[in-house]
This record gives sequence, structure tokens and C-alpha cells, in this order.
Amino acid sequence: MPLIAGETTASYLARTAAANALEHSELLRALQPRRRIRTPALRPAAEVYLSPPSLHLLADLIHRPADQLARALPHLRTTHLLEDDTLQVRSAAWPRGAGRGPLPGCPLCMEEGAWLVSFDRLWTPCGCGRRWLVGDHGGYLIDTTPLPELARALLQHRAFVHRLGPAVTRSSRTPTRSRCGGGSTAARSAAKRGGAGKTPSACPRASDGRLPRSSTPRP
Ligand SMILES: [Zn+2]
Repeated sequence: MPLIAGETTASYLARTAAANALEHSELLRALQPRRRIRTPALRPAAEVYLSPPSLHLLADLIHRPADQLARALPHLRTTHLLEDDTLQVRSAAWPRGAGRGPLPGCPLCMEEGAWLVSFDRLWTPCGCGRRWLVGDHGGYLIDTTPLPELARALLQHRAFVHRLGPAVTRSSRTPTRSRCGGGSTAARSAAKRGGAGKTPSACPRASDGRLPRSSTPRP
């Protein structure tokens, strides 16, 4: 299953289960096989969290390095893993409030049914400029195709950021000025570091991502 940068863990597990003709409950049980639990529904309203052993078991099942998963999926990073050294899977509803729930993925650029971590954004334009992703009211998409000015403005902004670097705050700019004589140096340094926009985008596919039949989890 191709990874999508910024995808929720629940979304990735749901897509992986579907691609392998599994019920999501089968995949979740495979990640904590010795526990009899009521497996949570993989729905946009809830996120799934794994313990470190369950993350590594998932990585083994899909034949990807665990750190590759953690780079792509924010809630598989260390700070969001369950503090448990056994195989554990937990589901938790997203916090209430503007910008706290997930954003629907752009169907033009991403796999069908993908959801993204919002990083406190209530809405954000997709990189293609043809859809805006909105997390309000359970998540929905706005088709901005009839307004090509928005896509052009997005591209111009990206080119601007690529050329000059991301915005530099007053607190981070002041020391640089005192040492180097100008804030533009900080901007150029940021540009060299690759400070392009952080709008979610689909990762290149490394493989078809399907679970090998010999390791397909059993309920
Ligand atoms: Zn898009």
C-alpha cells in the first residue's frame, strides 16, 4: 500500500486491509494477536494508536521499515506511540474543536478514502490547487477547479517560498541579523534547507504494498 505523507494511522490501516481483502478487524487483531478485544471501527471519527511492538509487527507484515512508516504517518512517531512494550492497539476519538479532526484526502492526488492529520488546520489547499480539504462538519472537500486563480496563487506562493525560504519570525531573525548582517541570509539558508511548503502530498510508490500471501494475518 503506498504511503501518503501525513495520513492518519486509521486511514492507512483501513486502506491496507481493503487492498488485501481483509476486514479491518482482522488486521487490528493481527497487531495484538493474544488479546481478545472489541476492535475499533476504522472511521474518520477515531484514530488508531499502536505500541512500539505493534508498529514493528505492522512493518514486518507490510515489508517496510518501521522508521519509514513513522516518517510518513505522524501518529506512528515516538511521541504518539502507546507506552507499552507489548502488542497493543487502541482507538481514540479525535479531540473536538476547530482544526482538531482529520482532513479528507484529495481524491485527485491520493488513494481513495485517505484521511490526513490536520496539524491544527481547519482547512488547507491540496497541492494540486483543485481541491481544498476542510475538517469541519466531519470533513469535506471544496472543488476549486472553477477558480483557477486560486491554483495560480498557490503555485506563485510556493515559488516565492522556494526562492526566499519560509517566513522568518522576528525572534529567529534578530540573532541572524546581528551575526550576518541581514535577515535575507536567514531566508536563503532556510531555502537551502529545503523549506518548501508542508502541504500534504502523496509519496512516490515504492511497491504495490500488498501483504505477501504467506504473511497475511489470520484472525
Ligand atoms: Zn489534489
